[in-house]
Amino acid sequence: MRLRVFTQMALVALAALSFGSCTGNAPVGETEGREPIAKHVVFIGLDGWAANTYEESNIPTIKGLADNGALTLEKRSVLPSASAINWASIFMGVPTEVHGYLTWGSKTPDMEQPTGAVKKNGIMPTIFQVVRNQHPDANLALFAEWDGIKHLVDTLSLDHFEEPDLENLAKVSGDYIKQNKPELVAIVFDRPDHPGHDIGWGSPEYYDMMNKVDGYIADIVKSVEEAGILDETVFVLSADHGGIETRHGGTTMSEMLSPLVISGKGVKGGYKITELVMSPDITPTIAYILGVEPDSIWTGEPVKSAFN
Ligand SMILES: [Zn+2]
Repeated sequence: MRLRVFTQMALVALAALSFGSCTGNAPVGETEGREPIAKHVVFIGLDGWAANTYEESNIPTIKGLADNGALTLEKRSVLPSASAINWASIFMGVPTEVHGYLTWGSKTPDMEQPTGAVKKNGIMPTIFQVVRNQHPDANLALFAEWDGIKHLVDTLSLDHFEEPDLENLAKVSGDYIKQNKPELVAIVFDRPDHPGHDIGWGSPEYYDMMNKVDGYIADIVKSVEEAGILDETVFVLSADHGGIETRHGGTTMSEMLSPLVISGKGVKGGYKITELVMSPDITPTIAYILGVEPDSIWTGEPVKSAFN
C-alpha cells in the first residue's frame, strides 16, 4: 500500500517535470510531499474513553462531529491497555514491541528499541517530529492535562507545549488556535479516566464527565471557527484505552476498544469505518491528512477509507 502511494507521488512529480517545470534541479519527492487533504488537524485525546459507553453518553458535540464524519467504535488498543503505552503508540505510529514503553506511567522506553529507530531529539519519530521535518515552518502545539504525556512526544519539535488543568485546557488551547492557526495541535484530556478509576467505567459520574468534556470540545470547535480555519480543518478524536469496573490494562473489549472520530474537510459524512484500526494507525492518519510522508519505521496505516 505504502509503495503504491510512493509510486503515485513519483509519477505526479515526474509528470510535473515533463510539463516543462522551470524548477531545474529541484529534488523530486521528499520535501514536496502530497497535496494535503486539509491544512490543519486538531487531535483531541480523551484518556480512558471506552467505546461501549458511546451510545449512552450525552455528548452532542462529539456525536455531531461523528455524524458529519467517520466513526468506528472499535479502535483497538495495543497491550497492555494502559496510558503511556497507548499514547506512545498513538504519537509514534508503532506498537508496544517497537516503542518499548511498557507501563502506564513509563517516561522512557523499558526495553531496547530497534537499531536506528531514534533519528533525532532522542526519541523515536513522533507525528510532531515528522511534520516538522517536512514542513519546517509549520506551527505545532500540544496541550495535555496529564504531565506523563510530555515524555511520549518530541517536545523539541513543538512550537508550544503547555499543561493546563481541566478547567483551562479548552480555553488555553482555543486561544492558542485563534492566535496561531497551528497546522497540528493535539489537546489531551486526562478524562474520563479519573471517574472511571474512582467510581467506575459507565457510572453516572463517568457519563457526567463525558458530558462536561463534550462541552469543552464544543469550545475548541468554536475556537477553530473563530480562527477562520474551520473549512480547512480535520478533527481526529480518540483515546488510549477504555476500562471496566474501576480498572484497565487487561484484554476485555471494554478495556481495549475506544471510539475514533474523524471529521472535517475531505472526510466522508456519516461513514462507518469498518477496517481494523489500532492505536498506531492514528499518527499515519494525521500525516496523511496533512500531506506528510510517513516515517519508514511507522507500522500503522492511515485510515484512508474515511476520506473522499
Ligand atoms: Zn489512560
